[in-house]
Amino acid sequence: MDFQLSMPKSGDDHENKPNPDEIREVIIIGAGPAGLTAAIYTARAHLKPLMIEGYFSGGQLMDTTEVENYPGFRNGIMGPDLMAEMHAQAERFGTEFLTKDVTKVDLSGDIKKVWVEDDLFQAKTVIISTGATANYLGLENEKRLLGRGVSACATCDGFFFQDKEICVIGGDDSAMEEATFLTKFASKVYVIHRRDQFRASKIMVKKAADNPKIEFIMDTVVEDVLGEDAVTGVRLKNVKTGEVTDLPVEGMFLAIGHTPATKLFVGQLEMNEKGYLITSTDKHNITATSMPGVFACGDVQDDHYQQAITAAGSGCQAALDVEQYLEAQAIPTEEETSMAAAA
Ligand code: NDP
Repeated sequence: MDFQLSMPKSGDDHENKPNPDEIREVIIIGAGPAGLTAAIYTARAHLKPLMIEGYFSGGQLMDTTEVENYPGFRNGIMGPDLMAEMHAQAERFGTEFLTKDVTKVDLSGDIKKVWVEDDLFQAKTVIISTGATANYLGLENEKRLLGRGVSACATCDGFFFQDKEICVIGGDDSAMEEATFLTKFASKVYVIHRRDQFRASKIMVKKAADNPKIEFIMDTVVEDVLGEDAVTGVRLKNVKTGEVTDLPVEGMFLAIGHTPATKLFVGQLEMNEKGYLITSTDKHNITATSMPGVFACGDVQDDHYQQAITAAGSGCQAALDVEQYLEAQAIPTEEETSMAAAA
């Protein structure tokens, strides 16, 4: 992935491999806005976080072009640049990075175990911020034109489609909501759905249907995305008649759901029916998962807001919850242990 080049690499595991024998205060898994914010906060709290960031560090913002709604950047900032800044900030306060994927976890017990291939890392707490990924159709040209007309985030990218004709793929609430939102910018929004009935709530379908800029195309799948350097259209196939037509549009928004990255935790942490981690409703411990000492933040536990700023906010909450947990457990920090030993 080209964007990887913009990420700082001083946490290179080959040069500076984290010591697997150490029992740490906190391990953070996943380096999107949630995990990196948790790293900044836990590092500044002298908890010396080990961030296992995965091979594709940075999360969904690495696939985003300009981010205009992240506070503090009035002229906008490119998604990968924002992540590089957060990474550098986490590093500045002493976060240790391991640029590999976690392969196995055992979250039971007071000491949590996290494996990266054959290396075992242990900690008193774990913050999970592995995120979620938008679902795509899986077409080759869809991937090639990602960020050049293909998007899975209307809130992020809608603004770039002023007075253009675009389409939204999907038939549930997200498709209706995004189509309606996109009419603020686009001159025409086609909603393309593979069946003859929407899954979306009646009220949201009605709102979209009443919007003069929205047109529904039912029983239809996208067979290809057209365009060399930017989207110029989509090739559609009617699943009932078999008829194939090209629809000229400059944007294609996917609204066909997200998949949270929670496979590692199946059987260990409570999840909802869509696989998102369930976190506490206690407002003083809001990021706690079903396992004591394990916290979750960002999109891996949020199937609704799914914004960089809300993910970052919950990363901060997870860090504060970890601090509170460690204090409540009266587990002395490493620094306290060595100070006590020196006294
Ligand atoms: P969903 O997974 O619920 O819906 C995905 C939609 O995309 C379905 O209509 C599905 O079609 C279609 N789809 C899935 N895969 C493909 C494919 N490969 N090709 C073509 N179409 C496909 O995702 P949403 O993000 O829409 O919703 C997630 C949850 O969030 C829902 O519970 C929803 O109600 C909720 N939500 C609520 C909102 C609100 O209340 N304001 C706003 C947005 C979401 P099919 O119907 O044929 O399966």
